[in-house]
Amino acid sequence: MDYGSKLNLNTLLFNHHKHTVLIPTFVIAVLLFILYFSANTYIYNLIKSSSIEKVKTHGHDMLLEKSKYIGNTLGEVSRLSQILQKEHKHFFANPELTYLPYGTPIFKVAHNGVYYKSNKTGSSLYYSSDTKITDKEKNKALRSEAMDISFKNIVESNPNIVAAYFNSWDNMNRIYPYIDNVYNLFGLSIQIPDYNFYYLADAKHNPKRESVWTGAYLDPAGNGWMVSCIAPIYNKDFLEGVTGIDITLESFINNILESKMPWNATLFMLDDKGSILAMPKKIEKIVKIEELIYHEYTTNINRTIEKPEEYNLIKNKNTPFSYKFAEYYKNKTKIFELTVNSIDYILLQTTVKETGWRLILIIEKNSIFHDIYKLKSYADIIGYSAIVFAILFYLAFLLYTVKRSESFALRITNPIRELSRQTTFVGTDKMTEPFVKSNIEEIDKLNSNFTKMVSELKIGKNNLIKTERRRQIYEEKAHIYHKKSLTDPLTGVYNRSKAEDVMSHEINLAKLYGQPLSLIMLDIDHFKEINDTLGHAVGDEVLVEFIKVINNNSRSNDIVIRNGGDEFLIICPNTEAKDAALHAENIRSLIESNNYKKDYNVTSSIGVTSYQTGDTKEAIFKRVDKALYIAKEKGRNCVVSS
Ligand code: GH3
Ligand code: MG
Repeated sequence: MDYGSKLNLNTLLFNHHKHTVLIPTFVIAVLLFILYFSANTYIYNLIKSSSIEKVKTHGHDMLLEKSKYIGNTLGEVSRLSQILQKEHKHFFANPELTYLPYGTPIFKVAHNGVYYKSNKTGSSLYYSSDTKITDKEKNKALRSEAMDISFKNIVESNPNIVAAYFNSWDNMNRIYPYIDNVYNLFGLSIQIPDYNFYYLADAKHNPKRESVWTGAYLDPAGNGWMVSCIAPIYNKDFLEGVTGIDITLESFINNILESKMPWNATLFMLDDKGSILAMPKKIEKIVKIEELIYHEYTTNINRTIEKPEEYNLIKNKNTPFSYKFAEYYKNKTKIFELTVNSIDYILLQTTVKETGWRLILIIEKNSIFHDIYKLKSYADIIGYSAIVFAILFYLAFLLYTVKRSESFALRITNPIRELSRQTTFVGTDKMTEPFVKSNIEEIDKLNSNFTKMVSELKIGKNNLIKTERRRQIYEEKAHIYHKKSLTDPLTGVYNRSKAEDVMSHEINLAKLYGQPLSLIMLDIDHFKEINDTLGHAVGDEVLVEFIKVINNNSRSNDIVIRNGGDEFLIICPNTEAKDAALHAENIRSLIESNNYKKDYNVTSSIGVTSYQTGDTKEAIFKRVDKALYIAKEKGRNCVVSS
């Protein structure tokens, strides 16, 4: 089985953890995070789109409710103006009735010729200097005091109403609350029928003689920008004048339009021609037009001043808002989405039945998603925190795994290493009984097996040593016995049987390699006499001394042999005949000159021969023997070569 490249146990364990725990958990964690963020985004988008739908439905309901409320508010003003209309009609129909609620008023003619009321009770009265003031006019001015109670009650009954008035066809104006120096404010002459708050109620504009609403206009009576609900006063078919109730744009915006609505929704109102009637500050920023509320009265307002054309969102195409808005307005689309300066809006519109004005609800999309954004950002924070936590946990886990792998590996490798160290001593003197306690069953088993093996090895080794020792002793003995069988016990040199083996071997070498081989044979002269004269023991000593002389002077290759009795052989391997003869002569001379510490003279006769091609062992022995014989014959103490 191939397990790939060699690794240490630590790496092996870590790799195992990596593949079985670390990588799978990492993959699962990543998948879970992907799932979490995908689900978050999916839910977020789902809530977003459902929220828009909800806003559109609820927003529309809210708009209708608001529209109903505004309709009711305006309707109430309309009804009040109808009351005034009726009261005035009655007034003109009954010229004989006179009712002065605050007593007799004081009328004066101002420096500019204007006829006016100087006492400040009730309403103020203005008669243009263009009108000739006769008793008839004075009578109308006086008698119309009767309307003051109604004017006062109406103005005080409704916080949206700032003024109530009557304008006559002949430029008389009665208005509540009282205006100081009215002759200066209106100027010396005004043509009341030229103003919208008059002519919009006339027979041409209002044939049904109902109460009608003006658009936004600048009030000549000093109350700034406003709208009025006006009603014609007919005496039979003669238009005596128009009665009206004023609502300033300020009060319209503050009391009617402005209210806290969900999603920061804002309302604004256009008239039936598309001109801005009233809008809160928030809308000003979107449409990029400033609302008209206050007016600095430096000159008299002697004609109708309506809002400039730029306030008409249908005609004004200069702002990004109005440009896109016109189409929506014309189509009367209920719900419309609009992007201005990268901000998305939802617009809902409806018509206020009472006036025909268009009420528009505008919602910035971001404010719908505010809570959802918040929720999503919380979810994202939780997600990112979980990622950070997971990374930290994972790193800690990684570290823990590395450490665990190390310690686990050490727990296994330490005893194995110790065992392995012990094995290096196997067979040496240092070898002891290994003891490793790992508490790991397999390793402990290995240890006990190893211990058993070591002790058996020890026994085996001891047995082996004993056997070897016995074998050595046996061999030594055998060697001794063998040597004994081949040596001469007296002189210690080889005996005759060894001479046979050596000569056979040397002859073979001479035959094979053509090496020279010489043989020297020595015999002590008249040895018998020594024995006989000095005794056998001295004879033995002479033999030993004789051999000593030969041994000391022979070459290392020479083999000295006792041939028997007082006869000796020197086998000279790799030696030519003449060298052997010289050697023999040298020995003969040394023997002769050696005094043996005795008085007796010892000499020897020597025969020398050499191997000749085709020689047998026997032939060589025979020849040397003959040479020795000749040396004896020649008178002894000489060397004879053959
Ligand atoms: P030659 O000059 O003719 O050789 O005269 P020789 O007296 O030496 O005659 P030979 O060689 O025949 O005599 C050998 C003698 O050596 C005979 C024997 O008694 C004696 N001899 C043999 N072996 C030993 C021994 O081991 N010790 C002693 N002391 N004498 C021995
Ligand atoms: Mg002899």
